[in-house]
Amino acid sequence: MIKLTSPNSDEPEPSSLSELAKSIDACRRCDLWKNATQGVPGEGAAHARIMLIGEQPGDQEDLTGRPFVGPAGKLLDKALAEAGVDRKEVYVTNAVKHFSWFPRGKRRMHKTPTQQEVASCLDWLRQELKLVNPSIIVCLGATAAKALLGPAVRVTVDRGRWLESDLAEHVMVTVHPSSVLRVPREDFDDAYAALVRDFKLIARVR
Ligand code: SF4
Repeated sequence: MIKLTSPNSDEPEPSSLSELAKSIDACRRCDLWKNATQGVPGEGAAHARIMLIGEQPGDQEDLTGRPFVGPAGKLLDKALAEAGVDRKEVYVTNAVKHFSWFPRGKRRMHKTPTQQEVASCLDWLRQELKLVNPSIIVCLGATAAKALLGPAVRVTVDRGRWLESDLAEHVMVTVHPSSVLRVPREDFDDAYAALVRDFKLIARVR
């Protein structure tokens, strides 16, 4: 579970998001960098009101160096717009900053990061939270939810309501948009509507 206070370290902390991005790209705290193109930091306004936190970069994010630019990101943008959330108020990032994958033929398939990899990367997320200082945090999926709020959080049970946390004024969990893309075709409309419903809670906070 994340704490905003710094762990003991002699390394000076980056004082801006651009410095932080360089440090993330140069990070060697776990082995994920070895098979990734680059580190993928968060993106959005420096003091965005809302921070959305996913799991890790995907194939397209790894290649472009930008978070949520693939199919899940497009679905995310659509759901936010439909819920009435202004994308300009949103900073998007991931719990893990390098792409974890395994080969299948010529494709690079998503591989869930290990608990150790998530723990190794958590300090970068802590620094992003400190610099952006959002008043609303939304964890997209179990990896981010458990990393930030602890192992007891259950996305299916706890989604779509404000949770007790000292990380920000408003903290919520919901599913990752990639999970909506993976549901059987006949369930897609319901899964997408539930995501939009959760995001509408954000739009109501003023
Ligand atoms: S995944 Fe995170 S901890 Fe691992 S090398 Fe990349 S930035 Fe560092």
